[in-house]
Amino acid sequence: MQCPKCKQDNPPTAQFCTRCHTPLRYTCPACKHVQSHGGQCEQCGVDFAKYSAMLVFSAQNAAARDRDRTRARTSLLKQVLLLPITGGISLVRFLLARLRGD
Ligand SMILES: [Zn+2]
Ligand SMILES: [Zn+2]
Repeated sequence: MQCPKCKQDNPPTAQFCTRCHTPLRYTCPACKHVQSHGGQCEQCGVDFAKYSAMLVFSAQNAAARDRDRTRARTSLLKQVLLLPITGGISLVRFLLARLRGD
């Protein structure tokens, strides 16, 4: 397989050019089809750059969702933990008010 960049003759199984390391094979991230050029998949038409950008985007989204979920959980947990304290304070206030005869 000849390198499109430096015209080096590479073994047909080479993934990268043995001389300039240009990728000789591209695997479609969507359907795993292997082809000799990047850009667009010959089989499913997926744009490699767009597809990987989309993967990064959805990974970031998932991470943000995870963060939000954790935050919601910790604030709920905090409220549950604080409940006996806040509840106890109002009970004390209530009892003091009763003692004062309000
Ligand atoms: Zn090359
Ligand atoms: Zn594909």
